[in-house]
Amino acid sequence: MYNNTKHYINGEWLDGSSQETIDVINPATEEVFGQVGRGTKEDVDRAVEAAKEAFIEYRTWSVDDRVELLDRIIDGYEARKEDIIETIRLELGSPVTKAEEVHWQAGMNHFVAARDALKSFQFDERRGNHLVTKEPIGVVGLITPWNFPTNQTSLKIGAALAAGCTMVLKPALNTPMAAIILAEIIDAAGAPKGVFNLVNGKGSEVGDAISTHKDVTMVSFTGSGVTGSKIMENCAKDFKKVSLELGGKSAYVILEDADLKASAQRAVRNVMNNSGQVCSAGTRTLVPSSVYDAFVEEVLKEVDSVVVGDTKDKSVEMGPLVSLDQYETVQQYIQKGIDEGAELIAGGLGKPEGLEKGYYVKPTVFSKVDNQMAIAQEEIFGPVMSLIAYDDVEEAIEIANDSVYGLAGYVEGSDLEQKRYVARSIRTGVVMIDGVPRDPMLPFGGYKQSGIGREWGDYGIEEYLEVKSITAYYDGE
Ligand code: NAP
Ligand code: MG
Repeated sequence: MYNNTKHYINGEWLDGSSQETIDVINPATEEVFGQVGRGTKEDVDRAVEAAKEAFIEYRTWSVDDRVELLDRIIDGYEARKEDIIETIRLELGSPVTKAEEVHWQAGMNHFVAARDALKSFQFDERRGNHLVTKEPIGVVGLITPWNFPTNQTSLKIGAALAAGCTMVLKPALNTPMAAIILAEIIDAAGAPKGVFNLVNGKGSEVGDAISTHKDVTMVSFTGSGVTGSKIMENCAKDFKKVSLELGGKSAYVILEDADLKASAQRAVRNVMNNSGQVCSAGTRTLVPSSVYDAFVEEVLKEVDSVVVGDTKDKSVEMGPLVSLDQYETVQQYIQKGIDEGAELIAGGLGKPEGLEKGYYVKPTVFSKVDNQMAIAQEEIFGPVMSLIAYDDVEEAIEIANDSVYGLAGYVEGSDLEQKRYVARSIRTGVVMIDGVPRDPMLPFGGYKQSGIGREWGDYGIEEYLEVKSITAYYDGE
């Protein structure tokens, strides 16, 4: 990585207007392993100017040309696989196996989905003698979080490129290095200068400059609600479109006739995945009172088998949290759960034995949680599972929906009709039955405070398009 203190603007790696840099920390060792440039408003201005200029030409590119560009990016992403895995291991603290199977793979899936969705996307529709056509919205600002360094970036970049937009990306400061590799891949793929630009730096500086820039027509953001709301306020001033993917506090509904062992295994893995730093994690596990004790037993067995440790070790499933900030936040929530009177049955405060260095947290489970407790209402973003008992299916649905969030839901059971009923009753953008993973061609996004808009596949491309109707377009035909 040679370009880390520079920004990628107008097809070149350029020094920023400020010489200041920001340290990037490996959360497993707490050591600095690199620096990135601290971008400024001036750097954003240069990047947006380049994107605006590039849009004039890129918006006219044929679907075939855009598909070929995405093909070359996919090839480059494959070729840089080892670098990406190692970078995500270092900057996020992801165990090496997960860095490959979860993180690298997610980026690949989204580039492929964007390309495939583009191939069959209907941009034009004839209505009588008139035309309804979908056109790229313009220069877009992409602001991403740290929890999936290649997932959210590739998702937004792939869809925006497919739509014919040009862009400026500001990745999260906790994990900026994987985004630098993506910029190198896009450069090597021969994207015309200015189509893709990367400015590193702080959200309050670079992110703010993007969301207030008069020539940015849309901002796509993933991260916290607090920041999402700030971005929306900025965008409101000149009516920029916003697409927001925010937090969640999703319910994992175990039905009475579920296979308790298998569903407990999946429910636990779901919460511990990526050290709990997942917006769609099913952190509220809703369990029928009739099978509660038996289910808890299975949960405890499964939690016990989660291997936490050295991110280089291929058998390790859970690494540290991304930063000291996140570590402290999660510790405070565990304390809050104890203070609120939930029953701590696994994990708890402090670091796992033998892992004093690094921002490691114990896989933690609270039992007898009341849905009104903070640990059931607020997004913890750590490996903390809350078990909540319910008496009948209607109560489970009520608890599931008693949340300001509406991102995901999960249902496990034997009776298909009942699973369908629960899935349809949960007010969230996605529901997974029996742990069947989401397909990258299905839309992803949230109801309520979990966001606005949808990403992934054709719905993702749709976000970056404007709709135009032209009368008499087909007159004479
Ligand atoms: P965040 O502050 O919302 O950060 C997300 C992105 O927004 C980062 O690139 C950040 O820059 C940028 N940003 C921050 N302030 C900004 C501003 N005023 N204008 C424009 N952009 C701005 O999230 P976080 O602090 O990293 O994490 C906090 C919490 O958010 C987590 O505990 C979790 O609950 C939630 N979260 C949710 C998701 C999700 O997938 N839905 C992902 C991550 C976090 P910096 O590089 O300066 O941070
Ligand atoms: Mg932040």
